[in-house]
Amino acid sequence: MQEQLIKDDGQTGVATSDYDAIVIGAGISGLYQLHRLRALGMHVRVFETGTGVGGTWYWNRYPGARFDSESWSYGYSFSKELLDEWDWKEHFSPQPDTLEYLNLVADKFDLRRDIQFQSRVSAAHYDEARRAWAITLQDGRIYRSRFLITAIGPLSAPTLPRIEGIDSFRGESFHTYHWPHEPVSFEGKRVAVIGTGATGVQTIQEVAKTAKQLIVFQRTPNWCAPLHNAKISKEEMQAIRGRYPEIFQRCQETFSCFVHTPDSRGTFEVSDEEREALWEKLYASPGFGMWQGNFRDILVDRRANALLSDFVARKIRERVKNPAVAEKLIPTNHGFGTRRVPLETKYYEVYNQPNVMLVDIRETPIECITPTGIKTSAAEYEFDMIVYATGFDAITGSFDRIDIRGTDGLRLTDKWAHGPETYLGVMVQGFPNMMMLMGPHTALGNIPRSIEYNVDWVTALLRHAQAHHLTRLEATEGGVTSWTDHVKSLGVGLLSNEVDSWMTGVNRNVEGKSTRIIARYSGSAPAYRERCDKVAAEDYRELALS
Ligand SMILES: Cc1cc2nc3c(=O)[nH]c(=O)nc-3n(C[C@H](O)[C@H](O)[C@H](O)COP(=O)(O)OP(=O)(O)OC[C@H]3O[C@@H](n4cnc5c(N)ncnc54)[C@H](O)[C@@H]3O)c2cc1C
Repeated sequence: MQEQLIKDDGQTGVATSDYDAIVIGAGISGLYQLHRLRALGMHVRVFETGTGVGGTWYWNRYPGARFDSESWSYGYSFSKELLDEWDWKEHFSPQPDTLEYLNLVADKFDLRRDIQFQSRVSAAHYDEARRAWAITLQDGRIYRSRFLITAIGPLSAPTLPRIEGIDSFRGESFHTYHWPHEPVSFEGKRVAVIGTGATGVQTIQEVAKTAKQLIVFQRTPNWCAPLHNAKISKEEMQAIRGRYPEIFQRCQETFSCFVHTPDSRGTFEVSDEEREALWEKLYASPGFGMWQGNFRDILVDRRANALLSDFVARKIRERVKNPAVAEKLIPTNHGFGTRRVPLETKYYEVYNQPNVMLVDIRETPIECITPTGIKTSAAEYEFDMIVYATGFDAITGSFDRIDIRGTDGLRLTDKWAHGPETYLGVMVQGFPNMMMLMGPHTALGNIPRSIEYNVDWVTALLRHAQAHHLTRLEATEGGVTSWTDHVKSLGVGLLSNEVDSWMTGVNRNVEGKSTRIIARYSGSAPAYRERCDKVAAEDYRELALS
């Protein structure tokens, strides 16, 4: 930065240091942001709780963890050299490969020297007199920085169920996010998995292969669709590499940055045979096609959604031999695609195995965890291991876990008490010089595509600040109201907003998170970019800059 940095003034804390920008988080967002800010000549520090880079792909080491995005559409697109160098080995990359990829990125761009690991940020307070943020780590160290960029992840605040006795269990127990770095064996063990969201589904498929006994505790079944993963040969990777410009261009054009595009026809605009044929084709195709490449009205038209749900229910009944179990696996409180669709590989067939049992905890609720297992209202089960696939306090959860205070000591949690209010999903009024990557109200979709856009937008804003010697960037109240109202209006009529899920901010395992909010931007990614580009093109005049 051209302006002289603020110097250590002996404030409380073990050490004080000064940066132009502090980034919290070394996942896909934080890594790329660091790279881009360095190019501006900024003095940047990244704080990361973990011991390595990768974020989601550093933490979630549970068996079967992998993308549901096509690998070759998920990686960074900003460096041709990187694209040339890295070979995806599977169409839907498993976690170890993705972590290897992100480590390669960190090495290739020499990012580690500015990343401080094992450094959880516990507080960030804005100091108006200095126009800077004071960032406190869990160990008490305080650092100051002109700009604060949160790259803390939409799915990085794991939650355990609120069940009595969790700590009393004497066997092994893991949350899927906090999975050990050492191999975990299920061989010959009696294993419980609690949770059947996207993570639970991936975990269950794997554990069932070797566990002596697997009991799945399900509260809400989810509509799943087949993943149809496959290995990528060297030759195929070469062909994909040749198509990268076309692939990324396509991702720029689609609604949610996936390679899939909705069919422009309505569900009832085609004959029964045509409709059935498309659904059969999508069900037999890899990836999110069933969700993202379906008729244009399946997520807004109740009748269309019900018909599609019937189709998928039929598939579940065909695949699960025991009709009573099949019925338990068919969701009844929401339609297909109105919650995040887990993609699966022989998930339903798992329930045909003699070593696997399904317990519906709406029928027989879990009463407590005991030292030896799990007690429901109907029975007591003994386990060697309990796996909590109970997900995240999504989108706002990682913000709630940091004491973030803006002007006049205003707490972000108070500001957002009735749901997030943001400007373009990037800034918050009353929190100057703070920018959010993948925070609430931004376009998510195929997330790295959105990350690259958001990072580039933030970088351009900071370049503008450098060029004009600006030291205070703040969203205006009008800008926030207008964007928040826009985001809310986009949610009207969406069936997904009538359903409790992490996408509507509901997590019954977290106090105060049982009311639905609009946490996500649900418009199209191209429209989002167009709006943000306009703001930049007009020299950010919608912001209060000084
Ligand atoms: C199992 C799983 C599968 C997924 N599959 C897909 C997929 O197929 N397609 C897709 O688009 N997206 C998928 N996602 C979403 C995924 O989170 C994003 O794609 C992407 O990884 C987000 O990157 P990020 O850097 O923004 O956040 P993250 O990867 O979550 O990184 C955030 C980092 O911030 C750190 N952090 C948080 N708080 C603090 C703090 N207070 N102090 C210091 N450090 C902190 C965390 O430790 C973490 O390393 C999946 C997520 C999960 C959990």
